[in-house]
Amino acid sequence: MIQATSGCTYNKCKFCSLYHGECFRMTPINEFEEDLAEIKSHQPHARRLFWTGANPFAMSYENLKERALTVRDYLIKCQSIAMFSSIRDIKPKSVEQLRKLRAMGINGLSIGMESGDDETLAFVNKGYTATDIVEQLAKLDEAGIEYYLVYMTGLAGKGNGQRNALNTSETLNQISPYFVENPYFLNIDSLTLFPDTELYKMAQHGEFTPADEKERLEELITLLQNLRLRTRVQADTISNFKPLTGFFPKEKKEIIGKLQHIINTSSEKEMRSYRDSLKSLGAD
Ligand code: SF4
Repeated sequence: MIQATSGCTYNKCKFCSLYHGECFRMTPINEFEEDLAEIKSHQPHARRLFWTGANPFAMSYENLKERALTVRDYLIKCQSIAMFSSIRDIKPKSVEQLRKLRAMGINGLSIGMESGDDETLAFVNKGYTATDIVEQLAKLDEAGIEYYLVYMTGLAGKGNGQRNALNTSETLNQISPYFVENPYFLNIDSLTLFPDTELYKMAQHGEFTPADEKERLEELITLLQNLRLRTRVQADTISNFKPLTGFFPKEKKEIIGKLQHIINTSSEKEMRSYRDSLKSLGAD
């Protein structure tokens, strides 16, 4: 891991407070080189790097290129440079530039898509539409860049999960149906409201009603029932009541069966108190 940027270029998503009060900053190239030299002293044969920061891929093509080529000066065996990105960060880059970045080793973008439903995206202020998702991911497919997507259950609020799931599956089915590589993972999170977010304040003022826990699982079942992707579904972060993973569509029936089993055997109260106990989205 190496710090490429800090903070988020956007900072406007209503459910997020991760980088509040922190300005976006690119690590100056001399600091970046010092860190690479240190990594080299411990791991001279490192093959994979992860650039930290909310969205290092927001850097311009030129800045990404400079840093990716600098990695080669220190870690000659490094084959893959992964990082977080937003759909917004792909937009200014052409397919040709993306292809070149891929050739320089940039591969494995973790994208917090959260939803593919226009109403939900606009409500939480993600700054892009379902059409943007389809268009920008198609560019990554064309350039051969591997990516991982996040979907967040409960984000649309009580009574809206089914609409969110159906429209998201429709969006995702357009990106690369049964494409062998992408999205490499579909990560599932579930909305957890923290006091310093706008959505929490809206909930306090009765302007947003969080979805029930069982409703969220039903939302996920609908998403999976309608999805035509070849990917790995990973609902194993702390925001999920019970961890669950599986290959899709191969294990579709098993995954949906497990979700139904959780709905049938766990009480809403038990699931609610689990969510209320979460103080952060860290691993523990
Ligand atoms: S969810 Fe991601 S893009 Fe949105 S404010 Fe938080 S870090 Fe920034």
